[in-house]
Amino acid sequence: MNASLVAVGIREGEVTEEEKKREFKELDIPKEYLIGYKPLSERLVRFLESTTSDLRSAVDQLFRVASMDELTQIYNRRALNHFMQQQIDAFGSEGEIMVLLVDIDHFKHVNDTYGHDVGDMILKDGVDQVKRFVSQKDIIGRWGGEEFIMISPYSSKEKALRVSESIRKGVEEMEFEKVGHITVSGGVTVLRREDTLESVFKRVDDALYEAKTTGRNKMVYKD
Ligand code: GH3
Ligand code: MG
Ligand code: MG
Repeated sequence: MNASLVAVGIREGEVTEEEKKREFKELDIPKEYLIGYKPLSERLVRFLESTTSDLRSAVDQLFRVASMDELTQIYNRRALNHFMQQQIDAFGSEGEIMVLLVDIDHFKHVNDTYGHDVGDMILKDGVDQVKRFVSQKDIIGRWGGEEFIMISPYSSKEKALRVSESIRKGVEEMEFEKVGHITVSGGVTVLRREDTLESVFKRVDDALYEAKTTGRNKMVYKD
C-alpha cells in the first residue's frame, strides 16, 4: 500500500509575550510543551491576516506602478484618462471642472544645451514646486514628455484663468540650477456636458497650440 505525507507550512507571524503566557488547561499536555501553542483555528486566522496584509501592500504597489509617473511621482496618462472619464460620467457633481494642459517652452533646447539629466531634474523639481501651490482636490499628472494636465473641481472660467495664470507665473519665477528660468505655455478649458475624453483633450490641445504659435509663455482659454 502506498502512503503519502503532505507537510504544509503556514505563516503566522511572531508569537507575542501574551501568547507565550497563555495556559491551555483543557489540554492534557505538560505546560512546557505549550509555550507559544496556538490552536489551529487561531493559526489559520493569523495566516489569513498576514497574507491579506501582504496582498494589500502588493495591490497598493501595483496601483502605484500602474498609475504614477516614475520620474515625477504624479499621475500618469492612464490615471488622468481615468479621472477625466470619472468627471465626464459624473458631470456637475463637483461643480465646474477646469482642465489645463501645460507644455514647457523650448524644452528640447534645454536638453540639447545642458543634457538630458538636467532636463529630467527640471521636470522633477518643477513638479515638486508646482505641487506646493495646487490644492488637495486638484489632480495633476504627466500627460507625456514635458506635458502636464491638471484637473480641478469647483472651478469656473474666471477661476480657471486665474489659476492657470498663477501656474504660468509661478513657473516663470522658479530658479533652476544651471538653467536658470524656464517658461511654460498652456491650454485651458472648462468641461462641457457633451464632452468626451477626446473632445476635451482636443480643446485644450488646440488652445495650447494657439499659445505656442502666438508667442509662448502664456495660457489660452477655449470655451
Ligand atoms: P515648444 O516650445 O514648441 O514646446 O518646444 P519644445 O522643444 O519644448 O517641444 P518639442 O515637442 O519639440 O520637444 C519636447 C522635448 O521634450 C523633446 C525631448 O527632448 C524633451 N523630453 C520629453 N520627455 C523628456 C524626459 O522625460 N526627459 C527629458 N530630459 N526630456 C524630455
Ligand atoms: Mg511637448
Ligand atoms: Mg515643449
